[in-house]
Amino acid sequence: MKKPYILIVEDEAAIAELVAINLRHSGFECEVAVDSAQAQSMVFERLPDLVLLDWMLPTMSGFSLAKQWRSQIETKLLPIIMLTARAEEADKVAGLDVGIDDYMTKPFSTKELLARVRAVLRRRAPDVVVSGSTLTVGVISLDSVAHRVTAEGKDVKLAPTEFKLLNALLQQGDKVLKRETLQNMVWGHYSDIDERTVDVHIKRLREALTAVSPAASAQVETIRGMGYRLSKSAL
Ligand code: CA
Repeated sequence: MKKPYILIVEDEAAIAELVAINLRHSGFECEVAVDSAQAQSMVFERLPDLVLLDWMLPTMSGFSLAKQWRSQIETKLLPIIMLTARAEEADKVAGLDVGIDDYMTKPFSTKELLARVRAVLRRRAPDVVVSGSTLTVGVISLDSVAHRVTAEGKDVKLAPTEFKLLNALLQQGDKVLKRETLQNMVWGHYSDIDERTVDVHIKRLREALTAVSPAASAQVETIRGMGYRLSKSAL
């Protein structure tokens, strides 16, 4: 089995070394980058399975780097665990807003770090396949540049709102999206649409998918009392 490859971005050599030794000992392959520029070039050389990213780095912060990665198609779904000396709630919220997968506040135990790494890898494993500007989950593919959606290889005609909804669901891997989050992602933070409007458009999205592929439609799951999720296969 291929060893998961983890990139450690940390300017404090002692911490980086300690983490690297523990990861290698636990069956991971890992490399260390000492700043954002080096991390950026290493990531484009070879995409890691997960990045441990220190918040406080010289020149460009880990937070800015994470934001940059989330805005690029190749790294949009890169699993990131932020290492931070700051425990302030506001920082965590800011990090979660840019899509950080998890946090470790320094000092942390390597045992806990390993547990979190495994948990994120398990959670993120479900298979969002990225190829150029196309994201694929299960039988559904969406090309954000060509604005094209296919299910089982057949074209799906979607109105702009349904396209944005599907895109938002695809971006999240298999995480559950709350109606409120979907509302913000699709209609913007300052929209005052009713949350039931989200349900209406989900219904239209399912109908459009069903017309081409019932299996694709079944991937759009309703999670009672929470929201929606795109599963990788119809269960
Ligand atoms: Ca640091």
